[in-house]
Amino acid sequence: MSVEVYKLFIPKDEECIEIIRKIRWGNGYICPYCGSRDVILKGKEGYKSYIQRYRCNSCKRHFNDLTGTIFYTFIYKSNWS
Ligand SMILES: [Zn+2]
Repeated sequence: MSVEVYKLFIPKDEECIEIIRKIRWGNGYICPYCGSRDVILKGKEGYKSYIQRYRCNSCKRHFNDLTGTIFYTFIYKSNWS
């Protein structure tokens, strides 16, 4: 399989986030730091506008769709496109 053909099967960042979001928040938003469900939406990440930001009302910390997942490293440390 050539590199070009292989690339067709790699999903874009946006599509990955959609899937991660469905899996991760399927039962509601949960703070990755303290486990609280008292979470509010805080807009989108400026540099990755398809990533949702959140704030926990219990511990006051901010996080996003990828915080605490292995995908965090992929999206922030690499360039997939
Ligand atoms: Zn929290």
